[in-house]
Amino acid sequence: MTVILDGRLLADKITQNLKEKTSSLKIKPKLAVIIAGDNPASLIYVKNKQKRAEEIGFESLVLPMPQDVSEENLLENIYILNEMKEVNAILVQLPLPNHINKFNVIEAIAPEKDVDCFSSRNAGKMLCGYQPYVLPCTPKGIIRLLDNYNIELEGRNVLVIGRSNIVGKPLSVMLQARNATVTAAHSKTRNLKDIALNSDIIISAAGCANLVTADFVREGAVIVDVGINRVNGKLTGDVDFSNVYPKASYITPVPGGVGPMTIAMLMENTFELYQIQNQN
Ligand code: NAD
Repeated sequence: MTVILDGRLLADKITQNLKEKTSSLKIKPKLAVIIAGDNPASLIYVKNKQKRAEEIGFESLVLPMPQDVSEENLLENIYILNEMKEVNAILVQLPLPNHINKFNVIEAIAPEKDVDCFSSRNAGKMLCGYQPYVLPCTPKGIIRLLDNYNIELEGRNVLVIGRSNIVGKPLSVMLQARNATVTAAHSKTRNLKDIALNSDIIISAAGCANLVTADFVREGAVIVDVGINRVNGKLTGDVDFSNVYPKASYITPVPGGVGPMTIAMLMENTFELYQIQNQN
């Protein structure tokens, strides 16, 4: 029987736990989010993050900036947030407008407030096996979800589809740290189906609807769908869910799988950064 990996249920438990821990704090953790432009999906993501932060009892600060904001102005605002003692965590919602160099922006965030672990200093630490301040939200959420269902990673063949700095790349590194045998596939991979058929766990983060079809999946494989796509106005992942479901041992739904876990990990990371900054 196929088990649904219920990200919403686990995310609710994690946020409930954070809510309890936050209620006893005199000074609350504070998350600052910068959003530039009016990308409709980004506006919804930021609203959801702010709503969740406030439900937990965190302080939140959203800085909306116009589409034509200059890079200089954006960086100035990050420097100000870096200096604000009450701000524990800084997130810059991606994508940024095309005229802005996202690497300059990410590198400007103080490493101890880099809630996504995107900066080269934090990502580099993770790559080298040192503890960064916090781990990146989406990969951390995926691994937490798999752990919650006692899905073994050690020695398993894991296919990660996608190699972005946000999901695929850090996820591959984190899975290797858990002793998985990882194959990192991408848009130029030639024999994706053969690799997929040899995989115990398939994690798709390509942003390509119907990429993972039933003929890619061997009986009993674990399927994690990170993709968020809109097809005829309907939200869908990368996996052909209805046809893959009967073959899988475990599978994430879209929505309700990885998405809620990403937000829960963002909240957990905000709390962890607060703790690190208030150790003494
Ligand atoms: P990205 O566009 O930066 O990277 C996509 C990656 O997939 C690239 O490495 C590319 O080479 C690979 N790819 C694209 N098409 C492919 C194909 N046909 N075969 C094999 N590889 C292919 O995207 P991203 O930021 O990593 O996000 C990936 C997807 O995950 C998007 O749909 C995004 O919306 C979603 N996402 C979801 C969450 C969540 O919390 N659920 C979080 C982050 C991203």
